[in-house]
Amino acid sequence: MQGRFTVERMEARILDIPTIRPHKLSFGSISRQSPVIVQVWLKDGATGFGEAATIGGPSWNEESPESIHHAITSYLAPALLGQEAGGFENALARMDKACKGNAFAKSAVEMALIDAVARTLGLPAWQLLGGKVHQSLPLAWTLASGDVAKDLEEAQLRLEQKRHRIFKMKIGARAPEQDVAVVSQIARGLQGKATLTVDVNQAWDGNTASRYLPRLIEAGVTLIEQPVAQWNVPALKNLCATLQGALIMADETVCTPQDAMMLARENASHVFSLKVAKHGGLIRTRKVAAVAEAADIGWYGGTMLETSIGSAASAHVFSTLGAQHQGCELFGPQLLVDDIVEKQMPIVDFELQLPDGPGFGLNVLPTQLDRFDRARQGLTATHVDMGQAA
Ligand SMILES: [Mg+2]
Repeated sequence: MQGRFTVERMEARILDIPTIRPHKLSFGSISRQSPVIVQVWLKDGATGFGEAATIGGPSWNEESPESIHHAITSYLAPALLGQEAGGFENALARMDKACKGNAFAKSAVEMALIDAVARTLGLPAWQLLGGKVHQSLPLAWTLASGDVAKDLEEAQLRLEQKRHRIFKMKIGARAPEQDVAVVSQIARGLQGKATLTVDVNQAWDGNTASRYLPRLIEAGVTLIEQPVAQWNVPALKNLCATLQGALIMADETVCTPQDAMMLARENASHVFSLKVAKHGGLIRTRKVAAVAEAADIGWYGGTMLETSIGSAASAHVFSTLGAQHQGCELFGPQLLVDDIVEKQMPIVDFELQLPDGPGFGLNVLPTQLDRFDRARQGLTATHVDMGQAA
């Protein structure tokens, strides 16, 4: 039986949007983001948008903008055409059957379905996701220019603007001794004014982490994200048991609810970085968050540097989660030279204001989608600059 929520059409395209400055991580430097934007049309004419972004093509994990686009257009969209958009779990099951893995691609599609259904009902998406319990969340900013003076200047400006007072540093590209020196310099500059966290993006082995993390904590770092490789759960467990004065946060290691359960069982995380893309959608993000809550593990609202579409969708689901959080980092729209929506989520007194309005509460601008469309710009795949980060 076909109802008003029947999926009639689905399209995906890759955008290429430059960043306001090079963004340097342990695995390289990026100067543009390439989100995949999905648009779905329902039988009643309603439309919804979803997004999946990666960082540095396939540098963060196996998926790339090109693989996401391919999975959606070749497998996921055909599996859902003529299906009920509002049966989200069924849609996820159909996508799983059509295509193994590919969590980022599935998340973009599920996001578009939820947006379209919520718009049809005139409801904000958070109402379909359990109800909003937070009105705002502290918003972190990542210092990743690769230059201490520039980083401190950037942090100072953002403090003055009352936009951010949690700053995350991307480390792991330099020698650990140098990282400790740089983080200590930044920590001294921000002492008493802001919270400092680090993300090693898997760059260290267990011994390096055990040796250098205490020095970062001594410098003032309070939250340490993914210090070791995705697979290195024994090292995460050891760090959780031995480090004093800071929390260990899993990012790349925690994707599925089963990963979350394993980390909980192993006592190998104090906090999970939640990201809609790696969990495979908004509903599965809630499942990972449920494991965290049951295991007394905190959560952090992570980003893959999405535009306002993916960031607002993430904000909707984060707004429904429990109290034990470390804020969020949905600053993607601010790192891009321009956005694809009329109005970004406001930031007031260092906090991101979680959105209302039907769907994800956004007005997407078709002219901006066209402007940044890779096919129209004649650009090719995203490459991460490996040289600059060394
Ligand atoms: Mg991370």
